[in-house]
Amino acid sequence: MRDLGLQKVAVLGATGSIGSSTLDVLGRHPLHFEVTLLAANRSVESMHQLCRQFRPAFAYLADAESNAQLAQVLAGTETRVLAGEKELCECIASADVDTVMAAIVGAAGLQSTLAAARAGKKILLANKESLVMAGALLMKAVAKSGSTLLPIDSEHNAIFQCLESNERAVPAKGGVESIILTASGGPFRTWSASDIVSATPPQAIAHPNWSMGPKISVDSASLMNKGLELIEASWLFNMPVDKIEVVVHPQSIIHSMVRFVDGSVLAQMGNPDMRTPIAYGLAWPKRIESGVKPLDLSTVGELTFEKADLNRFPCLRLAIESAAQGGTASAVCNAANEVAVQAFLDHQISFGDIPRVVELTLSEVANMEPTSLDVVLLQDTVARAVAAEHVERLKAKV
Ligand code: NAD
Ligand code: MG
Repeated sequence: MRDLGLQKVAVLGATGSIGSSTLDVLGRHPLHFEVTLLAANRSVESMHQLCRQFRPAFAYLADAESNAQLAQVLAGTETRVLAGEKELCECIASADVDTVMAAIVGAAGLQSTLAAARAGKKILLANKESLVMAGALLMKAVAKSGSTLLPIDSEHNAIFQCLESNERAVPAKGGVESIILTASGGPFRTWSASDIVSATPPQAIAHPNWSMGPKISVDSASLMNKGLELIEASWLFNMPVDKIEVVVHPQSIIHSMVRFVDGSVLAQMGNPDMRTPIAYGLAWPKRIESGVKPLDLSTVGELTFEKADLNRFPCLRLAIESAAQGGTASAVCNAANEVAVQAFLDHQISFGDIPRVVELTLSEVANMEPTSLDVVLLQDTVARAVAAEHVERLKAKV
């Protein structure tokens, strides 16, 4: 595997679920990957441990107080603590970084992902929210700088693997009829509508197949995650929203499919373990060992498929509607969802209130042309304020 070279890797969201899986894969290939930058939100202890293990040149915590504490505990070591988000973005753009794992959760990941795109870095994109918020701007920055954007979200990674390089640029010209996103259906797949609306945070976080951070786990339970992924797929693969299908596949073995005009359907399979798409992204266009158990289909037994139910899972409908509207509607949908999910995790509103907050916010915030980052960030801020008002009103009722 000599020709992989030595990649200098930044792991953004290093203490999270994707961050840990990434560091696990990187740790298996020390000759080919050097961790030069680790960034996360506020856990000083976890970051300190990771710095001792991986000895990056740079580290950063977004929370200012935690970052100051980190600087104290790392004083005198080989790791320099970056002063703020501006310095983080400069470091990402510098010669100290070749490859960026963008695995910060939520809108907080947008600036650093954009910095990597503008600087022409190889981006392993887990942070789907940055594409949902600012797909046009991010794809434009990638095209302008010649950055390589590799999807890490398992569905998009599967689609990427099913497409030849000439088909990826403009799939419709390459004979692609549609994209078929698979969804596990989440923990409430078989629940009645009335049980779903009163589900608790522990019930929503208990995903049947994947182990993930709390926000994406709730999104998977509401199927908002599949809606965000539909928007993500339309940007990544230049496909209109009405050419993206969703099918529920409870075993999470087929990670997504591509339907071609000649009747062929290609699928990518594997055990549900994010180390497969992460290893694929790190080594692309080669392959490296990821630590994932080999797939044993005789143990899996059967692969089944169902229609997605937009009535029991209104968040999927709302995300699709926002994508069809275009403009900043998807950014508004994303912001309202982030506020609602946090309020649900904090036991302030019910699970059924999440789509309520998103729908009301979408109907009240103006849709604008996302001509600049400032417009997107403004609409994100407005949507958060409107969603927070609805949370306040609904809180009293829980
Ligand atoms: P997580 O909650 O486990 O981890 C989030 C990470 O982001 C943590 O390291 C946290 O410290 C960091 N973070 C939060 N705010 C930050 C900020 N302002 N600045 C810097 N770092 C910050 O989440 P996760 O499950 O690892 O998901 C991360 C991203 O990957 C999300 O966008 C999610 O949608 C996407 N994703 C995750 C999975 C999965 O299997 N976990 C699969 C596909 C896509
Ligand atoms: Mg996914």
